[in-house]
Amino acid sequence: MNLRRQWLGGPGGRLVVRIAAVAALAWLIVLPLAGGTSDSTLFTFTLMFTGVAVAINWNLTGGFIGYVDFGHAVWFGIGAYITAILMSLQSNGLGIGWPPIPAILLGMVIAGALAALIGRFTMHLKGPYFSIAMLGTFVAMREIVRTWGGLTGGGVGLTLPPYLNRQLFYYLELVLVVGLIGLTWWLRRTRFGAALVAIREDELGAQMRGIATTRLKVVVFSFAGASTGLFGGLWAYQNTFVDPDIAFIETRTIDAIMGTLLGGLGTVIGPILGSVGLYWLREVLWTNLLDYHLVAQGVLLIVIVLFLPKGIVGLFDPRAVSLRKLWRWGAAESAPQTEDDVLSDSGPAPPIRSAEPARARTIPSGERTRVVEANGIVKRFGGLTAVDGVDIEVFSGEMVGLIGPNGSGKTTLFDCLSRVHGLDNGSIRLGTTDITRLSPYQVARMGVARTFQVIRVYRDLTVRENMELSVQWGEIGLRGLFRRTDTATRAKAEQLMEFLMLAPMADEAAGTLSGGQRRLLEIGMALMSDPTLVLLDEATSGINPTLVEDIKDRLMSINAEQGVSFLMVEHNVQFVAHLCERVVVLDSGRKLAEGTPRQVMEEPAVIEAYFGAQGHQDPPEDGGRAGEAESP
Ligand code: ADP
Ligand code: MG
Repeated sequence: MNLRRQWLGGPGGRLVVRIAAVAALAWLIVLPLAGGTSDSTLFTFTLMFTGVAVAINWNLTGGFIGYVDFGHAVWFGIGAYITAILMSLQSNGLGIGWPPIPAILLGMVIAGALAALIGRFTMHLKGPYFSIAMLGTFVAMREIVRTWGGLTGGGVGLTLPPYLNRQLFYYLELVLVVGLIGLTWWLRRTRFGAALVAIREDELGAQMRGIATTRLKVVVFSFAGASTGLFGGLWAYQNTFVDPDIAFIETRTIDAIMGTLLGGLGTVIGPILGSVGLYWLREVLWTNLLDYHLVAQGVLLIVIVLFLPKGIVGLFDPRAVSLRKLWRWGAAESAPQTEDDVLSDSGPAPPIRSAEPARARTIPSGERTRVVEANGIVKRFGGLTAVDGVDIEVFSGEMVGLIGPNGSGKTTLFDCLSRVHGLDNGSIRLGTTDITRLSPYQVARMGVARTFQVIRVYRDLTVRENMELSVQWGEIGLRGLFRRTDTATRAKAEQLMEFLMLAPMADEAAGTLSGGQRRLLEIGMALMSDPTLVLLDEATSGINPTLVEDIKDRLMSINAEQGVSFLMVEHNVQFVAHLCERVVVLDSGRKLAEGTPRQVMEEPAVIEAYFGAQGHQDPPEDGGRAGEAESP
């Protein structure tokens, strides 16, 4: 299995795939020229091209961004109907009939525009909700077409002027399908394509790393709608007749889904292989099992979905995903328990009082400007006020610690700063800009990067892809979006991976890393974006103590050399005391104290909050880590 995967996924396998593709294409090109190929055979092939194209388009949203669309055939129906309506205007006495090319193109444009409009609303929904909303769109559209008889011919349908050069359609669709395949193949290799997978893996995480996810989703959805609409228009013209039941038929969506699942969801060749396979299966079953072919087909597909969850391509390409995984929505992983974690929690915690502000200020306070200033932040969850009127500010080049017992609102405050949560009260400024109403991706583009208490990396992407995808999105521009990467990004990723000891795993999927390594990757990702402010949420938990020392040094040098500011939530008080000149203490959503580490630790209220209920037994939260004390 492993050998097979290695071989097929490696250069040998790629060569075989290429040779097979060229051979298939050559065969398809000469087929119509061979004597004895009937028009009906050509039409069958044209329908197969259509099926492949629809599956590829379906996979763009279903496979790449993970929005499983149950109503994709609606765009096919719209393309078909616009074409039919425009071309039959004359015979219906409504005007002058359009020639086919502008009619089909307008059908494509309208399908794409409607997809953009509808996607703008439905793509806020997640998982099955989106699927069902699209199914509803499909059914509603069919009924509108059926009811709007004056224009669409209602249930009777429309007849188009005939033009039956099958060979021309055959070649036209062959060219279009090959073009579409080339386009998706290229797209998957660009930043744009990687960003789509990032959306599938962790949409909120992608937003917080500067990716304008809504825009990308809608663009892809609209493109897929337009492309399927184009094939709908071509189909209507060849079929010379449309009615609601054949133009808007559920099986068109089902075939696209089944073909893609059979071939391999989220891959470029999956939908092609699967749709052709499905077509072929159907032909074989049809001729050999005449009476039972539908039953056999259904059973076969159940077997495939059960035993081949990543499809045919999934046997050798780890990038294929299973539907089961897709619908584990927005599930950021739970706190990791790995060897690293156990390691870092061992040993007694040094006493909190030895906390010592050890670092000289790198920038004189007079020259400092405010990087972030949050005033009166209030965030409620139902009856619980998680953050209750907190003011916090960070100056340029400053490292500030944010500590407090579990549940005191530290992560929630971070979520407010990175605009994941709407505020119930208060305002946030970045520099001189009010960001209280901006989106997470806009805040990220303004230079705020962060790591997460519950790790968020793109598990299906490689470590390198994770890093390179975390560039400063505000600076990429349209051209950069359609490039794979650039030399500066590549070099920076390389350098950071080297430092974070991730270089040996650069080409492994991030999902295979240990919890500690994933934390390191998150730090790397945050630093990739040239941030001015980094929010670290328990970034060192689960990382072994020696490495924590290295990270501490590295953060200090980044801070000193590049003037990057840090706001860090840490239970490792030694770490905070060593790095931060100022510490803010939260308790039950309120600011309890603020000052130098020493000042703060001597506050009776802080001692009370940390030790009061516990009888002076435990250090804060999980306590400082052994081996990290820096007693001068
Ligand atoms: P900390 O990071 O300081 O441990 P959190 O900010 O995670 O604390 O949580 C503060 C409080 O808000 C906790 O009581 C927590 O249960 C609650 N809380 C956090 N996030 C949510 C949420 N999404 N929905 C409801 N309650 C939440
Ligand atoms: Mg937290």
